[in-house]
Amino acid sequence: MKQRNVMPQKINIRGVYFDNVTKDEAFERVKELIRDDSKVSVMYTPNSEIVQCCIDDESMYSVINSADLIIPDGIGVVYASKILGTPLKQKVAGVETADLIAEYASKTGDGIFIFGGGKATSERPCVARLAADKLCEKYPGLVISGVRDGYFSDADNQSIADEINASGAKILFVCLGAPKQEKWIYDNRDKLKVSFAAGLGGSVDVFAGTVKRAPDFFVKTNLEWFYRLIKQPTRAGRMMNLPRFLFGTVIHKNRGHEG
Ligand code: UDP
Repeated sequence: MKQRNVMPQKINIRGVYFDNVTKDEAFERVKELIRDDSKVSVMYTPNSEIVQCCIDDESMYSVINSADLIIPDGIGVVYASKILGTPLKQKVAGVETADLIAEYASKTGDGIFIFGGGKATSERPCVARLAADKLCEKYPGLVISGVRDGYFSDADNQSIADEINASGAKILFVCLGAPKQEKWIYDNRDKLKVSFAAGLGGSVDVFAGTVKRAPDFFVKTNLEWFYRLIKQPTRAGRMMNLPRFLFGTVIHKNRGHEG
């Protein structure tokens, strides 16, 4: 029987067109995109910081909105959708979606290339290698086609794309932090032969075990941002983007804008 494609509804949050999906629906769509070999499909997982980044630099809108699937990886985006009167179904964490992708790939045999994260040191291999090893332990049968750290210059872009293509990977995790990873995928999409590429930020550190994800309590109570603030106080400056974004959204709505 022919599979029916699930085309999620788009919701405009301050100019970024999010897919209004539950976690399950997002994953169903991801599987469709992976199975479609005709092009390189892209998933981005923006939080409010990235939406604010678009508001501050309008050229970022074409980068972010070029993705085939845009999932709201941040409670700030979900709050903004409520403020604007067009509520998104839920927060869909990129790291959870990536974990489901790894499990799925371990069954289908699709290879994953992990690009990004810290370089190797004298004590340990690069973070992408650690992440690959941990994922293979968790999902026996998983094929990691290749790994590469995320520190390079623009002159390396073609050779990085060549390395990814030569690995035979079908799925590419790009973990360079935002918005670097989104720009890299946007600029290099035409060079790639994978069928699916995703911008996944710090997921590589979570998979590697070098950064712990917040305990369930913080995730369930939508306080994951607070946990990260306590654990990584150096992020405080970046996190000020959240109140700035929400306050800006209230003003935006009061001025009569819909999205
Ligand atoms: N990173 C990278 N290359 C860079 C900058 C960052 O590979 O030029 C990696 C960094 O080592 C970390 C990941 O990107 O593993 C995510 O960084 P961050 O936590 O800042 O990103 P976020 O998930 O908050 O967007």
